[in-house]
Amino acid sequence: MPVFRQPHNKVRFLASVLLAVLLCVVAVTGFGLASARNDLDELVRKHLVAEQSINDVDRSLLQSQSWLHVGLDTTDTTGRIKANENFDRGIVKARGAWAKFRTVAPQTAQNRQYETGYETMLSAWTELTNGLQTAITQGTGSTPEIRANELLANARLTVLRSQLTPLRDEYATASVNATAAQGRDTVDNTLALGAIVFAIGALIAFIVVRVTVRATIGQHREIERRDAAQRLESSRTEQESRVQRALEMAKTEDAALETLTLALDWLVPNTTAELLLADSSRAHVRQALTTDRAHRGPGCPVGSPHDCPAVTRGQTLIYDDSTAFDCCPQLRDRGIEPCSAVCVPVSIMGAPAGVLHAIGTPKVRATTEHVQALELAAARAGERVGLLRAFSQSQTQAATDPLTGLSNRRSVEGRVVELTREGTPFAAAYCDLDHFKTLNDKHGHDTGDRALRLFARTLRDNVRPGDVVGRWGGEEFVVVLPNSRAADAVAVMERVREALALACADATVPTFTVSVGIGDDEMASDFSEIVDLADRALLAAKRQGRNRVVVAGFEEANPDNAATTGPTGDESRTVNDLSEATT
Ligand code: GH3
Ligand code: MG
Ligand code: MG
Repeated sequence: MPVFRQPHNKVRFLASVLLAVLLCVVAVTGFGLASARNDLDELVRKHLVAEQSINDVDRSLLQSQSWLHVGLDTTDTTGRIKANENFDRGIVKARGAWAKFRTVAPQTAQNRQYETGYETMLSAWTELTNGLQTAITQGTGSTPEIRANELLANARLTVLRSQLTPLRDEYATASVNATAAQGRDTVDNTLALGAIVFAIGALIAFIVVRVTVRATIGQHREIERRDAAQRLESSRTEQESRVQRALEMAKTEDAALETLTLALDWLVPNTTAELLLADSSRAHVRQALTTDRAHRGPGCPVGSPHDCPAVTRGQTLIYDDSTAFDCCPQLRDRGIEPCSAVCVPVSIMGAPAGVLHAIGTPKVRATTEHVQALELAAARAGERVGLLRAFSQSQTQAATDPLTGLSNRRSVEGRVVELTREGTPFAAAYCDLDHFKTLNDKHGHDTGDRALRLFARTLRDNVRPGDVVGRWGGEEFVVVLPNSRAADAVAVMERVREALALACADATVPTFTVSVGIGDDEMASDFSEIVDLADRALLAAKRQGRNRVVVAGFEEANPDNAATTGPTGDESRTVNDLSEATT
């Protein structure tokens, strides 16, 4: 039965059954008692009537007997007749009283015996009366016969009266009282028994009901406690998934911090909180976000993660009172109004990286929900910022040439795709260091690397910020100049050539030169074709003596041609220069 799935329902059901049985017992007992009382009253009433009737019978018989004696003693016929009439009246009265007695008296053997004797006496008396009447009316009544009848009647009356004695005794008032007392005792006993049964039943029912109610209340409280825990858990789950979802949409660290600020407004409303986060060196922390946009509070002055007790202990610290002696010094000595505070350490990739700090009403301990919400925000902040930093680092690494720090070939191509998509015109310069193998061979690979870095720096320093400078591979570089034509690129690369000469003079690397081929997107639509054209121009520059800039399409021009620039003299001179410089 589904109703019995809960144990307290079983107990409640049993208690109800017990109570019902108890009520039935009480009702039956009460009904029995009422019935017993009625019977007792009826008994008493019948006894009283019976006693009175017996007394009436006896009194009437006594009168009749008196009149019989009068008749016996009277010689006068008239007087005798009168005596007999009175005798007869007494008998009639006795008969009426007897009939009344019989309606209330039980049909006992003694009653029946008395009745028989009475009937016999009556018939004998009828004979007697008839004899008397005859003697009176005829005036010839045989006195001895009459007298014999009278004596017989007297004797029978005496017997009848003597037979009444036990009946009178039985129905005497004392007897009635005794019976009534007995009845009352019975009723009282029954009542006492009923009261005891009722009291025991009521006590059991009370105990059962109390136990049931207690058990039910206990279970109810337990269910409420579980419900509250479940509600809290589901609210935490909801908070967690919403914050997580929001942070996943933030693709940069700044966006993530802005999202976290909004999340804190929602998680811990009316609370001033800030996130202090270390930079990549992890040596210093700075305020990365605050919910107090106007005053930039709470303003924890901690400068390094290692100066923050929450970070060094690696656990959430809760301060009820900022003025307490055992409070964090960064909070106590800050010179702000007394407050309570919660500090939750933030870690990035498992390493301590900052703290989420919130202040509240002084001397009011933060609730568990409040602390859990801050811990949730701190954990998600560390995860997301760490992920974004790692992603950004790996992206940078993937797009950067590790030796020179310039963009790599893939990154340059990606930028050109963007320019093409935007419809931005551009020129491209293909640079190749001259006789670099010789430099490497003579001065070693490390010197070659330093030379590559020097050239990369020279390139970077002599182009516009929007220009894309990349290492194409080996000792070859590509510069993409947005919104430029080939002629603009020539000017830029000439500047680079001159700057390189100056840089080499100042540097600890041997002097080296660069040859450059130039193309632009008017010469071809595809970037690889533009690079090919520039590469061909570069080869022409090499052929023409190196250390010069040649524009695609002008490869065959003589050295004085405007599209071909470079020092006068031949290629061997440059090689010799290089050789001289490096020796
Ligand atoms: P050319 O003037 O015709 O360009 O002659 P070159 O010697 O510069 O050309 P070559 O292609 O024969 O040699 C290129 C050299 O660049 C070969 C290689 O040792 C050197 N090189 C390429 N990448 C690196 C690098 O990362 N570091 C160093 N140190 N040298 C490199
Ligand atoms: Mg080369
Ligand atoms: Mg070369």
